[in-house]
Amino acid sequence: MLPIEQLLENNVAWAQARVKEDPDFFNRLANLQTPQFLWIGCSDSRVPANQITDTQPGEIFVHRNIANLVIHTDVNLGAVLDYAVNHLKVKHIIVCGHYGCGGVKAAMTQTDYKPILNKWLRNIKDVYRIYREELDAIEDMEKRADRLVELNVKEQVTNLAKMSTIQKAWKEERRPHLHGWAYGLKNGYINPILDLEPGTGIDPIYEYDDL
Ligand SMILES: [Zn+2]
Repeated sequence: MLPIEQLLENNVAWAQARVKEDPDFFNRLANLQTPQFLWIGCSDSRVPANQITDTQPGEIFVHRNIANLVIHTDVNLGAVLDYAVNHLKVKHIIVCGHYGCGGVKAAMTQTDYKPILNKWLRNIKDVYRIYREELDAIEDMEKRADRLVELNVKEQVTNLAKMSTIQKAWKEERRPHLHGWAYGLKNGYINPILDLEPGTGIDPIYEYDDL
């Protein structure tokens, strides 16, 4: 483990290296951010958005939480989404889960993680309940957890499509595309799970007709 002082030393070296490579690097970024992508990922330290997509500061607007959940009453997520869609005008939103996710595995147990975590993990338990038949049929627990990771990504992307912020942008500007990915901790590869084009129909009970 690095001591905290090391992080600051690394930072100085990093900043100097960037300027050496590209003298205008910070001037350009300080004035404007125009990312085309919003990333909704897991907080897991092994899944950093920029590194695994080999992108630079300024390219991806990032929101992360435990198990990459899209919960419509989450004000933090809602504010990030509103800003990304209506101000930054992102063209793509990526929900990126990852195989071996501790949050997903925890939700598969009956352990009491105490009120706050229980509330959060409940959302993943709800996904399990929807797909119980398919999941229960997978005997290997690691494979079952990995399938739940994929199904969770699918449900969270669908949760985005249920939100009026997305539906309004789809109707007026034919963006953003929604993408669900699952990242492999063991090999570093991203597995695309699903794509929703702007205007994709969802269960009509969630569709607003007066946007
Ligand atoms: Zn995770």
